[in-house]
Amino acid sequence: MTQNKYQNIITNEEVNQNKLDRADAIISELYHKMPKYIANGHGPFLAAIYDNDGNLIAESANSVLSDKCSNNHAETNVIRAAEEKLGTHDLSKYNLSLYITAEPCMMCIGAIMWSGIRAVYYGVPSITVEKITGFDEGFKPNWLHEFATRNITVYGNIAPESGERVLRDYVTNNGTIYKPKRTY
Ligand SMILES: [Zn+2]
Repeated sequence: MTQNKYQNIITNEEVNQNKLDRADAIISELYHKMPKYIANGHGPFLAAIYDNDGNLIAESANSVLSDKCSNNHAETNVIRAAEEKLGTHDLSKYNLSLYITAEPCMMCIGAIMWSGIRAVYYGVPSITVEKITGFDEGFKPNWLHEFATRNITVYGNIAPESGERVLRDYVTNNGTIYKPKRTY
């Protein structure tokens, strides 16, 4: 591991190396799993929720196309799965962290806020996702700041190169790009 591995990290708190090391391992594993999900008809985004002891609570990929449901992003799917598993609409007392292969879109930022998730770690930033795929990630407020005011920590741009590679493969293999930026 090089010293400058995390030099481009985006965060809304003072950098915590242990959190970053854990996030790097989990998100790298998610990148590794993505091609299998995509081969099974999922969209190219994957998310997982872990508790503070490192136990996996839920893992879900984007299922917009297979479910014919525009709000079944990886984040909304995994939050729903965690809430069903724990039997609550409010995850805040479980001190859970959400790990995502890419920065959450405008819809998912709202979903995360409502869920009680305490920390968010993401891989590829939205600007890069849009550049590679053409997905429209939406207009966003200064969400890292807004999350900080709600005691939700955020770390982003974690090992993005591997995630970018999977997204590029998705496009190269003619994966469906559904664009909200419609002309009507
Ligand atoms: Zn989303």
